[in-house]
Amino acid sequence: MHIIDLRSDTITKPTPAMRRAMAEAEVGDDVFGEDPTVSRLEALAAERLGKEAGLFVASGTMGNLVSLLAHCGRGDEVIVGDQAHTYMYEQGGMAALGGIHPRVLKNRSDGTLDLAEVRAAIRDDNPHFPRTRLIAVENTHNRCGGAALTAAYMRELGELARGRGLLVHVDGARIFNAAVALGVDVRSLVADADSVTFCLSKGLAAPVGSLVCGRREFIHEARRGRKVVGGGMRQAGVLAAAGIVALEQMVDRLAEDHANARSLAAGLAGLPGIQVEDVAVRTDIVFFNVVRSDLDGPQLRARLAERGVRMLPLGPRRIRAVTNYHVTAEDIQAALQIIREVLGAD
Ligand SMILES: *Cc1c(COP(=O)(O)O)cnc(C)c1O
Repeated sequence: MHIIDLRSDTITKPTPAMRRAMAEAEVGDDVFGEDPTVSRLEALAAERLGKEAGLFVASGTMGNLVSLLAHCGRGDEVIVGDQAHTYMYEQGGMAALGGIHPRVLKNRSDGTLDLAEVRAAIRDDNPHFPRTRLIAVENTHNRCGGAALTAAYMRELGELARGRGLLVHVDGARIFNAAVALGVDVRSLVADADSVTFCLSKGLAAPVGSLVCGRREFIHEARRGRKVVGGGMRQAGVLAAAGIVALEQMVDRLAEDHANARSLAAGLAGLPGIQVEDVAVRTDIVFFNVVRSDLDGPQLRARLAERGVRMLPLGPRRIRAVTNYHVTAEDIQAALQIIREVLGAD
């Protein structure tokens, strides 16, 4: 059976060019700073993001954690969205491991935080309060339908933060999807960020790893944080080699994933019993709800899986589909046909 896997962009397997680069990678002990391939990837990532330095980490979760650990002390407060990955899906690592207090604001449906609410949430100097230290945002925003935060928004947020002496962290797991969708240089999206995390292992199709980028002194601290959470990897150049290919060859093609996601959303929108949350899909993520009394999300997911179409339920009625490198435009049409048949809409 032909499998059309739309569960996540993390399911992507390394490309042939990545496998060759991995096999031939020059390596050394990266904890000693001696892996030339890791160093090359870190420099390349920093250059692409317009930052001074980069750090290769095992995952996006580790990247966010070591960034917050480097910026914040125990009892410091981070302003974060209620739908943010950092808040929802990282075991509360900032609190559990860093003693960092999250101040949670509602994400708007476009993934942003209301800047007036951010301003109001910043604490005065008062012995009753934790100290506000940092604002964390997510771009693209996963749970807000892969929404891309614009350069204009990021600039306003940056000005607000600077004016109040606060730092900005961008969870940019899919920051290149945002840049491609908005048609801007990724540097313009993170110019005001003190730190950025992005994933190689999602739409960019590398097997493992994320990068943290920022100022040199920040990266020095983040590198210490990486070691204490057990993330110091030795001959990691075999992984970094795939990451270099990801950055050099896999960024521009994200536009294909976005086009496929748009056709999927448009096709789903015409089906009875399906409500697409936002038909104006910008990136690679489509959320829809199953609104039928005889069928819920997990049931639809199971029936599709029997026919080789895989998606992820994120609630009793809510399903997420993420396009990726292994899914072609023809696959999207085939998936839509299977969904039509399963819904009895043919
Ligand atoms: C996937 C993801 C992460 C975490 O990345 P892992 O590599 O799975 O730890 C962080 N933030 C966002 C927005 C993500 O989508």
